[in-house]
Amino acid sequence: MSEPIPVARRLSVVKPSATVAVAQRARELKAQGIDVLSFSVGEPDFDTPVHIREAAKQAIDSGATRYTAARGTVELREAICDASAKRRPGASYEPSDVVVSVGAKHTLFNLALALYDEGDEVLIPAPYWVSYPEQVRLAGAEPVIVQTSEEQGFRMTPEMLRAAITPKTKALILCSPSNPTGGAYSGEQLRALADVAAEHDFWIIVDEIYGQLVYGGFEQKSIVEVAPELKDRIIIVDGVSKTFAMTGWRIGWMLSPAYVAKACEKIQSQSTTNPSSIAQSAAIAALRGPWEPLEEMRQAFEARRSIIVEGLNAIEGISCGTPEGAFYAFANVQGLIGKQGGGKQLETDLDVAGYLLEEARCAVVPGTAFGAPGFVRISYAASNDMIREGLKRIGEAVGKLS
Ligand code: PMP
Ligand code: GLU
Repeated sequence: MSEPIPVARRLSVVKPSATVAVAQRARELKAQGIDVLSFSVGEPDFDTPVHIREAAKQAIDSGATRYTAARGTVELREAICDASAKRRPGASYEPSDVVVSVGAKHTLFNLALALYDEGDEVLIPAPYWVSYPEQVRLAGAEPVIVQTSEEQGFRMTPEMLRAAITPKTKALILCSPSNPTGGAYSGEQLRALADVAAEHDFWIIVDEIYGQLVYGGFEQKSIVEVAPELKDRIIIVDGVSKTFAMTGWRIGWMLSPAYVAKACEKIQSQSTTNPSSIAQSAAIAALRGPWEPLEEMRQAFEARRSIIVEGLNAIEGISCGTPEGAFYAFANVQGLIGKQGGGKQLETDLDVAGYLLEEARCAVVPGTAFGAPGFVRISYAASNDMIREGLKRIGEAVGKLS
């Protein structure tokens, strides 16, 4: 028999998504009847609000079941521009600046193909969402990781940004509020970064998918509001998955200069064509309101944030700051490293996550996957009861370490 035919070389530089993998492992264990609590994937536990579901049913019955424009219907793109104008006052966008894709992950993937050439460098502050560097690599470019520190709330400072820029820098990818830390940049912090970026020529890609999930009165700002003069270099990535509990519907989008939108539309016209026509109709309903269900979910996340942060800080060896947004606690587990558990020594955050899965039957994502060894990410997009039970189990498992 001849050797198996190899897959393309470009795959050798890419890792599979750790968030997707840990979530899948938790699902498999559950399917085997093992009582695992999954705090792994970033997915609201709420059902999609009723009026959005109804809009989808109506779309099916009224024949919205055919191909649409590759970049999404005009109605949805108008709804996106209107919703954006409310959230980002002063920055106005037209439907020709918008491309709707099969989730924001797809939007980011289109952007990687559209913007990066081989040899280009893309700045990504760590901790980062797992897909950013891999998509850059798939496009043949080089992710340049900018290390931030817990003391600075995992935020990139203007000095860190300045030090990372080279003549090859093609883009910066910022996520605020952040997956995995939940940390968000204030308007002043964004302005200070914009001042450095303004001295150079590169894209500023801002992932604002968690922009409406902020707590404790935090004032969410978009870099395009505080640095409107850079609008022709800013690309905003957003979507309905997190805000409206619509992860499975697969609708995300970008707001960008029209020529970049055209480039991404070209790619999409040769790959997925349009995102689901039915999901697009549902997304219009989401963006047009009513907004009460959104606010109810936001308040629920805010209450859970307190439970998880307090609970984690009460466990010896674990500490955790209070995140401004998203639904992740990014816990420092360095105090557990070096301890003995489950018959072996915990040497890394990967061991800690493995131990918590085995001993506490709680699935969390190791910080290493986000470029932050020594931490674990715990998604609190889960019911209060599940969070309390998880904290109890983690506390007990940690208590058994010697
Ligand atoms: N950006 C960030 C920071 C995320 O956490 C996610 C969640 N997967 C996405 C983009 C993509 O979301 P989706 O593809 O579901 O729109
Ligand atoms: N963004 C979510 C997470 O980080 C969903 C999974 C994924 O797409 O990576 O868990």
